[in-house]
Amino acid sequence: MRSIYETTTEIRVGDTVSVLSGKDAGKRGSVERLVAPGKVVVTGLNIAKKHQKPRQKMANGSQAPTVEPGGIIEVAMPLALAKVAVVCPKCDRPIRLKAGRTADGKKQRLCGRCGTVIGGKKEAAK
Ligand SMILES: [Zn+2]
Repeated sequence: MRSIYETTTEIRVGDTVSVLSGKDAGKRGSVERLVAPGKVVVTGLNIAKKHQKPRQKMANGSQAPTVEPGGIIEVAMPLALAKVAVVCPKCDRPIRLKAGRTADGKKQRLCGRCGTVIGGKKEAAK
């Protein structure tokens, strides 16, 4: 399903992005999900440590509860869209996206520098 936050020229789930500013500046990761307007969660980036208590959970169909261990877990926090840029596979650097159209009139995203189509096969992912 497409998220309501997705538009033609914006970042999508699965894109490789580079962080432009903040503590993870220069690092790259893959977009895991889109959250509130203008924010994305990138796998392995903007990690925050969360202190989790152990908790019991009833697994479906089983009699005994399973215990989720507590401890410090690492969670990827959302990053503002303004802080990340999609990496063009051809230019190998963060670029701006440009809107374009395929021969049959469908919208697609292009690299603002070299014109390479970015993430054309996205729809099949979900
Ligand atoms: Zn490019």
